[in-house]
Amino acid sequence: MFASYLFLAFAGAVSASCNSTTPLASATTTEGCACQELSTTYPEYLYYPNSTNYTTVNLEAWDKRSNLEPSCIFNPVTADQVADGMSVISKCNAQFAIRGGGHMNFPGANNINGGVMLALSGLDTIQISADNSTVEVGPGLRWFDVYSYLEPYGRIVIGGRLKTIGVPGLTLIGGVHYFANKYGYAMDNVVSYDVVLGNGTQVTATANSSSDLFWTLKGGANNFGVVTKFTLKTFAIPQVSSTIQVFNESGVQSFIKAACDLAEVDDASITAGAVITINYNATTKGVSASLIGVQEGTESPPSRFANFSSIPAVRVVNNVSSMATFAAQLDSPLQMFR
Ligand SMILES: Cc1cc2nc3c(=O)[nH]c(=O)nc-3n(C[C@H](O)[C@H](O)[C@H](O)COP(=O)(O)OP(=O)(O)OC[C@H]3O[C@@H](n4cnc5c(N)ncnc54)[C@H](O)[C@@H]3O)c2cc1C
Repeated sequence: MFASYLFLAFAGAVSASCNSTTPLASATTTEGCACQELSTTYPEYLYYPNSTNYTTVNLEAWDKRSNLEPSCIFNPVTADQVADGMSVISKCNAQFAIRGGGHMNFPGANNINGGVMLALSGLDTIQISADNSTVEVGPGLRWFDVYSYLEPYGRIVIGGRLKTIGVPGLTLIGGVHYFANKYGYAMDNVVSYDVVLGNGTQVTATANSSSDLFWTLKGGANNFGVVTKFTLKTFAIPQVSSTIQVFNESGVQSFIKAACDLAEVDDASITAGAVITINYNATTKGVSASLIGVQEGTESPPSRFANFSSIPAVRVVNNVSSMATFAAQLDSPLQMFR
């Protein structure tokens, strides 16, 4: 084994710039050990620098300021492969990073310089239960994928507010949806996690089985294992009523008052929530404000936001649609600078 590591390391030194599968990490390093063993077992899912797959997967992150250069990327498609990967990473004592939807926006959150990136985009299966009350979701999916899959069933999950945020990161840190006032956070609606532990062991954590891990994962982020499947509660909400309103500077004082009034009445008698923003443009030195309000059902405009509707606005768009159609409008493209 040691001899073959040395051979691969030497090959990398002479031909890295033209061979897309050539390792750059030395086999004598911990990451070189992991990359080369995974490359031998899973050549189709292990990407080295200077290959198209490496570049594509490496840049599947929202904030380009957090781009890093892992020694290799492991991009498995099954939970068993994730478990194998973790066993190898653990055995080699290699540094690694876990990548879900890539929306956490600081360097090191989902990538690493010189270690192994475990990219989960290949675990992209989704399946609703026979009674439609839950849905099994792979960590390679984004919230728009989930809303779109559930649309024909007239159901939603409590997930992200924008189209392209990843399922795993949001669910593992809490997860704020428009309807949190009635249904809680995304993490409150997870009934089961399939998890690969640091030593490669696979566990299913529920309220009754591995329950310490189950509760720990509700906010535990990436500190306790790699989640390979989330089972989420679904809710019968075929349509939502939305309002998008934009105000110029003269409306900002009234906007702040309306936001405070909204916070005071934010009980669960109406299922609704909003993204409320006050913006300062450093170039024009202008101030503006905006509301994205969403309410369960078809009442339009949504009554929960009536206080905002009385303020003169420069733009108002009211709509009734499925959650998938609404979320489709709110993109947050990869490699966006912020
Ligand atoms: C434009 C934008 C809009 C947002 N809107 C919302 C919103 O409406 N509501 C809200 O609550 N949050 C929102 N967020 C925050 C968002 O929830 C977090 O950034 C979240 O971490 C993104 O999840 P991800 O899978 O895309 O991210 P990633 O960056 O891939 O992962 C985030 C973290 O989770 C870890 N991780 C990923 N997958 C797994 C896994 N399977 N097992 C273990 N650990 C894993 C990663 O290592 C990383 O540390 C928003 C962020 C952005 C940039």
